[in-house]
Amino acid sequence: MKIITTRDLIKNVATRWYNQYFGAEFRGSRKDVFDRLNNLDTDTCSARDVDNIIGNDDWTELKCENCNKIFGAVIEIDTDNTGEDGAAKFCFNCIKEAYEKMKGR
Ligand SMILES: [Zn+2]
Repeated sequence: MKIITTRDLIKNVATRWYNQYFGAEFRGSRKDVFDRLNNLDTDTCSARDVDNIIGNDDWTELKCENCNKIFGAVIEIDTDNTGEDGAAKFCFNCIKEAYEKMKGR
């Protein structure tokens, strides 16, 4: 398990975009988006800057899979050990609630 923040998503968004679309589909607007993402200062830009380039917030949003709320940081648990696709994300409050329920068992 590991902690993921919105800044982590911002910092690797260009790489993730490239990995998603590289190949036959990696041209035209998808290449333009990649170039614009690559030109961002990922130390200082906002998630909205990324969202505006891509056209949605799917690439910067961190949603807890238990309470469905949006957070700036979550813990990711690789539930099937297959890597990112199989990982579930949970917020601090839901992890704390799970801890309280399990405590002493
Ligand atoms: Zn939660």
